[in-house]
Amino acid sequence: MSQRRPLVAANWKMNGALASIRPLVDGIIAGLDTRAEVALCPPAVYLAEVAGRIANTDIALGAQTLSEHRAGAYTGEVSAAMLNDYNCRFAIVGHSERRSLFGEGDIVVARKFQAAQLAGMRPILCVGETLAEREDGATETVIARQLDAVTAVCETADDFAGGVIAYEPVWAIGTGHTATPEQAQAVHAFIRARLDTAFSGLGAATRILYGGSVKADNAEELFAKTDIDGGLIGGASLDVQAFLAICHATR
Ligand code: PEP
Repeated sequence: MSQRRPLVAANWKMNGALASIRPLVDGIIAGLDTRAEVALCPPAVYLAEVAGRIANTDIALGAQTLSEHRAGAYTGEVSAAMLNDYNCRFAIVGHSERRSLFGEGDIVVARKFQAAQLAGMRPILCVGETLAEREDGATETVIARQLDAVTAVCETADDFAGGVIAYEPVWAIGTGHTATPEQAQAVHAFIRARLDTAFSGLGAATRILYGGSVKADNAEELFAKTDIDGGLIGGASLDVQAFLAICHATR
């Protein structure tokens, strides 16, 4: 039986305002009843606010991205050390929106993964294929490339340890189209095997989340799959009841 603790992470993206984030966090705190690990990834300017509100709970804080640089003349960027000041346990890296809208390629994503690891945070590395890539039969090739770019910068399995993968088919993000549990399971199994080719045993040790239009009514069947260890939740994480239902659908 797997020892991997389920994880549900909320990616609020660039949504909300103080007025909506306060009741959202308080509602989640009040209703949460799960042994899964739960993380909230607010926009960077709200990290302090959320950190304060979750301070006496088991809920973790996460960042939506971070700089690959330690410090310096990088206007607008936020470093791993700065995120550490707010006790960020997680940092999402390589989200498809960062890749496609902000031009982050595999090498930059790998550096961000390393920056988070070096600072003692757990990167959540997003991988996933576009619809055209899936229709071309290139899903595994794309995901292998995205994963290998990161494992290639790890000298030992310890450099990856604690890192999380989120399989997010681009065609399912924010579209209402979810991968079927079988489609997701097949890719998760592939990811686990691919991690093992980099470092033996890494596959079984690594939590692999599914992301892409997870909702209250499809979470349970996705999370029931052997290799799905939880979810990275976008739209549905902005609604207290929907997010709680997803958290409670974990095994
Ligand atoms: C995401 O962007 O990480 C995501 C999973 O979004 P949604 O749940 O809205 O598809």
